[in-house]
Amino acid sequence: MTGRWTEIADGVFVRRYRFYQQNIVAVVDRGEALVVDTRSTYRQARELLDDLRALGAPRVAAVVNTHGHYDHAFGNHLFRPAPIWGHVRAAAMLGPAGGQRELAVRDLPRLAKELAEVELDPPDRLFTDGAAVEVGGRRVLLAHLGRGHTDNDIVLTVAGADVVVAGDLLENGAAPYFGDGYPLDWPATAAAILALTTEQTVVVPGHGDLGGRGFVAQQAADIAALADLARHVHEGALDIEAAVAASPFGTQGSREPIERALAQLRGELG
Ligand SMILES: [Zn+2]
Repeated sequence: MTGRWTEIADGVFVRRYRFYQQNIVAVVDRGEALVVDTRSTYRQARELLDDLRALGAPRVAAVVNTHGHYDHAFGNHLFRPAPIWGHVRAAAMLGPAGGQRELAVRDLPRLAKELAEVELDPPDRLFTDGAAVEVGGRRVLLAHLGRGHTDNDIVLTVAGADVVVAGDLLENGAAPYFGDGYPLDWPATAAAILALTTEQTVVVPGHGDLGGRGFVAQQAADIAALADLARHVHEGALDIEAAVAASPFGTQGSREPIERALAQLRGELG
C-alpha cells in the first residue's frame, strides 16, 4: 500500500510510508483536512505536505498526534499555524524534558543532523479523556481509552465512517513497542478498541497493514497473554526464559516487554 492514498471510507484516507511502515491518515472535507501524525523529520513532513496535494490540496485545519513518540510528531512545526491536538501527557512527552529527540537520535543516528533541526512543537489543544474536532463539516472524535503503548495514546473515530485509527496501540506485522508501555493496562485498552469495531470496521494501526476486528482481537489476546506470563514470573511460577519462549511475540521481541511488565508488577511505573 506504500506510495499512494487509499480511501478507506468516504473522505478518510490512509497513506503508508516505507519509513517505519508508518500509516498517516487524512480526513478531508470541504477543502479542509485533519492530519493524523506528522512523521519523524522535516524532510518526511514536507513529503507528507506535498502528498496532500493529491487529495486536492486541502487546507490543514487540524493535526492530531496519536501519542508522544517522535515518529508521530516531529513534523508538527511545519503544519503550523494549524492547531495540534493531543493528550496532555503527549505534550509533556514531546517537550524538552520528554527525551524524544535523544530517543530519535539513538534509533536513527544517520538522521542526527535532521533531528537536530526539529523544533519541538508539542500539541497545544490538550485533553485527558476525549475531544471532538470539526474538519469541514465532519466531526472527528479523539478518545484516551487507557494506558497501553504509552500513557498518552488516543484513538480516533470519524462520524459517518466505520474506521478506527488506533495509533501504536496496535501494530501489524511487528511486535508492538513496549519500551514506554504499560503491559498490565494495555489488554483492557485494546479490548476497548475492540468494542469500537464491527465486522466491517477498517482498523488503522500506527504501523503495518490495515486490519479488522479479528486483528484487534488477536492483538488484544496476545498482549493479555504476555501480561499473564509476566504475572506467572512475578509469582515465581515461571522463570523468565520460559516466559520469553512462550510469548506470542516470539523470543526475539519478548524480553523487553516482559521486563517492562515485571517492572509494572513491582510498582515501578507509577
Ligand atoms: Zn509509538
